[in-house]
Amino acid sequence: MKRSDIDLFISRQLDSWREAAIRHEALCSVKTKSVCVGDTEWKVMFNPARSVSTNAKVDEESIKARRCFLCAENRPEMQSSVRWRDYDILVNPFPVFPGHLTIVLRAHERQLLSGRVDDFVDLAAELAGYTVFYNGAGCGASAPDHCHFQAVPEEYLPLNREYPFRRIYFTGDLDMVKKQMGQAIASLPLAGYEEPQFNAAVHHRGDGTYEAVIVPRVAHRPSCYDKVKISPGAIDMLGTVITTSAADYDAVNGELLASVFSEVAVVDETPVLRVGIMSAKEVNYSLHGEYIREGDTFFPSSPDCWFELDDVTIGVDFHWERKECQRFHGALQLMKGDDGMETAVNIISVEEYLMSVISSEMSAEASPALLRAHAVISRSWVLAQLGAKKLPSSNTCTVSDAETVKWYDHDDHAGFDVCADDHCQRYQGITRVTRSEARDAVMETRGEVMIAGGRLCDTRFSKCCGGAFEEFENCWEPVRHSYLVGARDLLPAGSLPDLRIEAAACDWIMSRPDAFCSRATPGILRQVLNDYDRATTDFYRWKVDYSVEELSAIVRERSGIDFGDIVELRPLARGTSGRIYRLEIVGTKHTHIVGKELEIRRWLSRSHLYSSAFVPVRTDAGFTLYGAGWGHGVGLCQIGAAVMGAEGYDYREILLHYFKDAEIKKLY
Ligand SMILES: [Zn+2]
Ligand SMILES: [Zn+2]
Ligand SMILES: [Zn+2]
Repeated sequence: MKRSDIDLFISRQLDSWREAAIRHEALCSVKTKSVCVGDTEWKVMFNPARSVSTNAKVDEESIKARRCFLCAENRPEMQSSVRWRDYDILVNPFPVFPGHLTIVLRAHERQLLSGRVDDFVDLAAELAGYTVFYNGAGCGASAPDHCHFQAVPEEYLPLNREYPFRRIYFTGDLDMVKKQMGQAIASLPLAGYEEPQFNAAVHHRGDGTYEAVIVPRVAHRPSCYDKVKISPGAIDMLGTVITTSAADYDAVNGELLASVFSEVAVVDETPVLRVGIMSAKEVNYSLHGEYIREGDTFFPSSPDCWFELDDVTIGVDFHWERKECQRFHGALQLMKGDDGMETAVNIISVEEYLMSVISSEMSAEASPALLRAHAVISRSWVLAQLGAKKLPSSNTCTVSDAETVKWYDHDDHAGFDVCADDHCQRYQGITRVTRSEARDAVMETRGEVMIAGGRLCDTRFSKCCGGAFEEFENCWEPVRHSYLVGARDLLPAGSLPDLRIEAAACDWIMSRPDAFCSRATPGILRQVLNDYDRATTDFYRWKVDYSVEELSAIVRERSGIDFGDIVELRPLARGTSGRIYRLEIVGTKHTHIVGKELEIRRWLSRSHLYSSAFVPVRTDAGFTLYGAGWGHGVGLCQIGAAVMGAEGYDYREILLHYFKDAEIKKLY
């Protein structure tokens, strides 16, 4: 049905049914006010006509004693219906919003969604422009004895918001949403009712995709129900709390709602992170809003409090290093070190931290799929930092006269979990306007991480793999991760030559095999590179020319070894992406082997060579390096992932392509 057909049905019904029409008209003058619970705004509605539902007796005795008002034979004479499958679509005579529909199973069967999920989601497809919802027994249904759904125009029930209680939100096509809804319901505990307690809502977004929410419930009515009659169903849980007396309406405030939600829903604490922002002899800060001091820490009294730090250095050691003033939500701790330095630590929920990280790290043009994939990667990484701490340093260096083997990995911090700069993940508080796309990406993937073998994955990523993935142990410590293995950056995967073999690697790098990252256009590159301005640069295949003098000087400067004139670059070992991890440099005075990939890139360029997947070719003037990819090539290939997003893959498909053998799991 088109929305205009539904509107026509409603207006015909109201033309012929005076009582229902009066209550629909009364909605225009219904009183509402806004209150905040955490960061989220709630509407409170004063709607006396709804007392039939809010004050309905739903105990078994009372239900048995009354005639079922949803059965066709007991409905008011004036009530008309539209048949859909085994259901009658009715205009709700006690509406919360204009256009409020009740969809009633024709048979008198108990209120259960289990077994009717397909109907529920299909109904959202049928009722264009509507959000369909369901109140289970024991969480808002005033007729638990007769199965029914409800629907209201989509604008009254936005599903993608942040809630101060647990909610399961998912998106996808019709089949995916049905499947996920079934799984989500099955995962909830049973307690005293025939099916788990939950409210559900589903909405067809009009582009062929659906969004759905399940709110797990633990109680029907809050303990304050004796005094303030709030009987939360889907509408109340998803944004509009209904009251039926003026006194109740006045009594509802943010505090009361927070306590109602904590009783009827599942309020879980997201992990909290300690982010080291800056150190100075004296940190200059200012607090805005009311903070409560405990020892060296200032805790905000409300979520809109913010504090400001002066002279925060951003871009440490980069050409764009500068100092600026930054603002943050959450708590501020000022730690005095033994050296007399003061360190400012921001204590903040992981999800709020991620919104800032995704906003600051990702380009404004990144697609939703790419942003979601990155949100899951960043969350996995940061939760891994909170978990088992690594050894003090995982950077390793063995140097002998003949060989240098070095790799660089993340060091842990003392006193906080992560720093705010690129060493960990770039975090600039609320200074940068948080983009709504970035917020959505974090909210829609809330709690989702990559897991393999029961542990959080090491979610590495780099700019461009060059067509094939590198394995972890060829870049860092010799540990094998089942989900970071060599494979072609393509679906279906096609064949991948064994690039550890020199001849195969040369053919691969000197040609341009098809891969997701080989299909990048300037538009795609802009999604991945924040400061992308060079429309012609090709990161998939590139080349660098050096004269003998130039290369010899660079290598001498970067390695501290005087090779004399360099006469040969000899790849001794390559990984699964063709990246060299042992390179022999032959000079007139000295010969030396260098590895792993980052050290090779460091030695052969004044900055860093794009990657160590290159073929060195002797020329008349010196050397030409023909190369592939940018970065280490382990894990997610950002340019390839952006191409996948543009080709219509969703973030789950993207993640499972780059982290083979891993799974996406919702931790909270
Ligand atoms: Zn009935
Ligand atoms: Zn760090
Ligand atoms: Zn790639």
